[in-house]
Amino acid sequence: MAHVQHWIEGGLTAGASTKTAPVFNPATGEQTAELALATPADVDAAVASARAAADSWSHTSLAARTKVLFAFRELLAAHTDELAALVTSEHGKVLSDAAGEVARGLENVEYACGVANLMKGEFSEQASTGVDVYSIRQPVGVIAGITPFNFPLMVPLWMCSNAIACGNAFILKPSEKDPSVSLLLADLWRQAGLPDGVFTVLQGDKVAVDGLLQHPQVDAISFVGSTPIAQYIYETGTKAGKRVQALGGAKNHMMVLPDADLDVAADAAVSAAYGAAGERCMAISVIVAVGAVADPLIDAIKERLPSLQIGPGDKEGSEMGPLITAAHRDKVIDYIDRGEKEGAKVVVDGRTGRSEDGFFLGCTLLDDVSPENVAYTDEIFGPVLAIVRVDTFDQGLDLINSHKFANGTAIFTRDGGAVRSFQRDVQVGMIGVNVPIPVPVGYYSFGGWKASLFGDTHMYGPEGINFCTRRKVVTSRWPDPGSSKIDLGFPTNS
Ligand code: NAD
Repeated sequence: MAHVQHWIEGGLTAGASTKTAPVFNPATGEQTAELALATPADVDAAVASARAAADSWSHTSLAARTKVLFAFRELLAAHTDELAALVTSEHGKVLSDAAGEVARGLENVEYACGVANLMKGEFSEQASTGVDVYSIRQPVGVIAGITPFNFPLMVPLWMCSNAIACGNAFILKPSEKDPSVSLLLADLWRQAGLPDGVFTVLQGDKVAVDGLLQHPQVDAISFVGSTPIAQYIYETGTKAGKRVQALGGAKNHMMVLPDADLDVAADAAVSAAYGAAGERCMAISVIVAVGAVADPLIDAIKERLPSLQIGPGDKEGSEMGPLITAAHRDKVIDYIDRGEKEGAKVVVDGRTGRSEDGFFLGCTLLDDVSPENVAYTDEIFGPVLAIVRVDTFDQGLDLINSHKFANGTAIFTRDGGAVRSFQRDVQVGMIGVNVPIPVPVGYYSFGGWKASLFGDTHMYGPEGINFCTRRKVVTSRWPDPGSSKIDLGFPTNS
């Protein structure tokens, strides 16, 4: 049985805890490792190491930091297969999907490689006579990242790439469900030449999170996870005086207009709903079928499902793996049961695909789902696609805008005018036009609206740089001593 430890001060450590949590291979249902759960003393040790490292790393030149980032980028790319295999072994997603996670995370590192440019301030010469004004960006200090199970590599890379590039120390508190890849990440940072303490991994549960939220030496918290926890993190962290960005859950709608290409829309719906067994924060979980498109679209989706290959993520040909835990699989089944009781029509029933070995479940397609149905109101986070039928574009738009979640959404159509109205009026943070999973590229920023985001900064890209830096403005004069005089008036510019 493997023991998954913390990474503090540049190496593995068991820490002070005797408390552990089991880690499973979701494809077999077997426990594969035991995870150390941090105590408050472990939190203190991690933060002390990060604090000391932040002080010297923030003084390290941009040129030296950039060298480390480029080296880290090369190491990540070279270790893609190893990273993907680790993700698959604990998360369950298929290997190609896990490799995709590495590739999307690499984008964030590549963006951060340009830190010398991104940290530039502004300069206004002669703002007033003999006075220059300029701005400076400086690191925040110690940033802690608390991450979800569904992207155990990519989401940490969203956070740590910019944080470290900007001169901060970063403490990662990974999900306790798939923690091992965080330690390979730490070792790759070490190999890239990052000084000890700049990247730390603190394994644990609520004790670790609460310790970080309350610790006076932690300056900022980046969080990604479910909405109730995101809200808790935001409220607790800001109350403790920290800068916080907290991304929450989702219910992503894909609106299909009658003029859409049916095959394109059906392929996109199946890929985006059932990829990674629906455990993506940008998964499509609702189709808003407008007018006459509903029946042929449902037939086209239904037709595609029997041939999907569900199996272990590391098996050749598998297209969809298991869910993360037995408890989560049973929760998804319970949602299907309740959705059916509340009037949804089960067109394809994934419950028959429940397995005893491993946490597998089949794909479910629900039709005639009402906006009050629990299968519509709640984030299920499993391979369940709900169809809501509406008569018009405006009804579809109202439906989307009435939902509490507002992470991503997509529209499928050939009508440019409809797209223009949609992108202007939809109250959602990320929009796809004939693109079902519109995760922005690394040089934009990622984030939803409403209950999908607490705080005002999106993750990674330019907003990530803002989150990871504090700005100063300097007003400067080099006076001629001969012209100096006392003036108690409020300074104005001339
Ligand atoms: P989660 O909220 O259960 O856990 C996220 C993190 O919070 C973990 O590190 C966990 O240890 C910690 N945590 C859990 N309960 C806690 C508590 N009571 N107090 C303090 N810390 C706690 O989320 P999850 O199940 O790991 O991930 C799935 C969720 O994440 C889904 O809701 C999904 O939509 C969301 N997600 C959102 C985005 C986004 O960008 N908006 C991206 C990925 C995942």
